[in-house]
Amino acid sequence: MNLPPPFVSKESALTGIAASPGVAIGKAYLVDRSKIEFIYQNLISPPLVEEEVARFKGAVERARAQLEQIKVGVPEELAAHAYILDTHLLLLQDKLIYEAAIDLIRKERINAEWALRKAVDQAREKFARIKDEYIRSRIKDIEDVTERIIRNLVGSEQESLGSLTERVIIVARDLSPADTSQMRLDRVMGFITDMGSRTSHTAIMAKALEIPAVVGLEDCTRRIRTGDLIIVDGLAGHVIINPDDKALEFYYGRQRSFESYQAEIVRTAYLPAETIDGHRLAVMGNVELFEEVAAVIDHGGEGIGLYRTEFHYVSKRHLPTEEELFEDYRDMTQILAPRPVIIRTLDIGGDKFTSALDLAEEMNPALGLRAIRFCLKETEIFRTQLRAILRASAFGNVKIMFPMISGLQELLEAKKILKLVCRELDREGLPYNPNIEVGTMIEVPSAVAISDILAQEADFFSLGTNDLIQYSLAIDRVNERVAHMYEPLHPAVLRMIRTVVQAGHAAGIKVGLCGEMASDPVCAPILVGMGLDELSMTSLAIPRIKRLIRMASLSECRDYVQAILRCRTTVEVNEFVREVIVRRFSEDFDFLAAARAV
Ligand code: PEP
Ligand code: MG
Repeated sequence: MNLPPPFVSKESALTGIAASPGVAIGKAYLVDRSKIEFIYQNLISPPLVEEEVARFKGAVERARAQLEQIKVGVPEELAAHAYILDTHLLLLQDKLIYEAAIDLIRKERINAEWALRKAVDQAREKFARIKDEYIRSRIKDIEDVTERIIRNLVGSEQESLGSLTERVIIVARDLSPADTSQMRLDRVMGFITDMGSRTSHTAIMAKALEIPAVVGLEDCTRRIRTGDLIIVDGLAGHVIINPDDKALEFYYGRQRSFESYQAEIVRTAYLPAETIDGHRLAVMGNVELFEEVAAVIDHGGEGIGLYRTEFHYVSKRHLPTEEELFEDYRDMTQILAPRPVIIRTLDIGGDKFTSALDLAEEMNPALGLRAIRFCLKETEIFRTQLRAILRASAFGNVKIMFPMISGLQELLEAKKILKLVCRELDREGLPYNPNIEVGTMIEVPSAVAISDILAQEADFFSLGTNDLIQYSLAIDRVNERVAHMYEPLHPAVLRMIRTVVQAGHAAGIKVGLCGEMASDPVCAPILVGMGLDELSMTSLAIPRIKRLIRMASLSECRDYVQAILRCRTTVEVNEFVREVIVRRFSEDFDFLAAARAV
């Protein structure tokens, strides 16, 4: 774990998760969000039970009205995240809490507050079993919503953060989307919380707003009082309480250099990613939601290299209709045209579950009926999505990409269904691009081994290293116990990337990479040297990676690759990276490495 500078005393420093980069120095504002206490009541007579149900329904209705009200006032900077409030509104009628609480009131004859907490405890158990960290952490949304209902039930005030009078750093146990939506954001210099992970709302919001944040500090609300002077180092994940002059001087310096670095990368975000010896790569954005497209463009993304399309399926009770999908894909295509949008077909199954489908539980979901395997079985769902993608292709530069292809047969089968869908659209007279490019993700080791064969049938390749690392090193990507063995710079992974690039280029097709590796600055020079044509990543990383590419030359990157491919272990690769690559780009790496962690 990285430590604060040695002159900062242990007692005044807290370490958590660096959730949003930057340094904030200012007064703390403690948000008291302690859980409301209430008593257990047993309702003896049946009329009392029905009265309690009505009281519960009333509190839910008031929560709905409050959330609607907050939604209307969402600040512009957060508009793209207002969907989270919609999720909360949906949760108000969710079976897991709404119906479960009413059932408990009736069956156990208990008061509404007690029934609600019990329903949430049961939901928490169900969520704890979900593998995907992002989805698992969504239990937080349920807790936020139920706290609001409970406050309504007991008649306690909903604390509003809309009245901050000076610029402060918010210190809280945790923050709900409704909290952040109500805040005067121009008065917020930073966020720190006891709870939270990299994927918690505080982290997502802070990043979107570019406000420094540290989460998961465990006891900052106990250690800090309103009015304390604090430093938030969102790059390293440190918080310093009541710093001395030496610490202040150090952190003001760090703040200045980070801000000038940020200003520089924003200023140059639109420049092409061209090396000093004239080799150009396409740098694109990965998105999951339509709302993220603006961030990709703002950060200098040259298109969408990976549109993960699962959102429409995982958060809804019903499967999306062709029209819903078509409108979403068309809007994205139109906004980006003539820039490309690579739409990946549904990658459901594995750790991405959906409430609209009753998927069977599997022993090894990552090796189960996921992605293209699922689509080739549930062909109606697949065809609906393909129709929507094809129809959107009439409005701009759309490409299709199939996930988890493990053999040629799957690719041919998927292409056959695509062709049938094209014939259908022809018959119906609906326009689409008949020359639409069809690519395949390379994320299963068998696909690497036959990449020369697949290259004959694909218009492009995109390496999904998140899964490729998982499957080739046999490391579950969501299992924290083996997370230390999840090594993008493992010699096996590097050799596989080289094999795929060579196979793709030999067949005259482009090869991209859209796993997390693409946004890792230490990997960028290696990927350039490997010959990748395109890198696709989270929008925030785009300016940094483009800048790094502009500082490098293709010939030096090729030399790095030659040296790295001679390494026999990840330790040797890492040593080379540290000694040669990090030194070569040292002026950027302090911040780049920190940015990599968020
Ligand atoms: C990957 O596997 O690298 C990838 C980009 O896809 P996902 O993370 O959605 O599985
Ligand atoms: Mg994948």
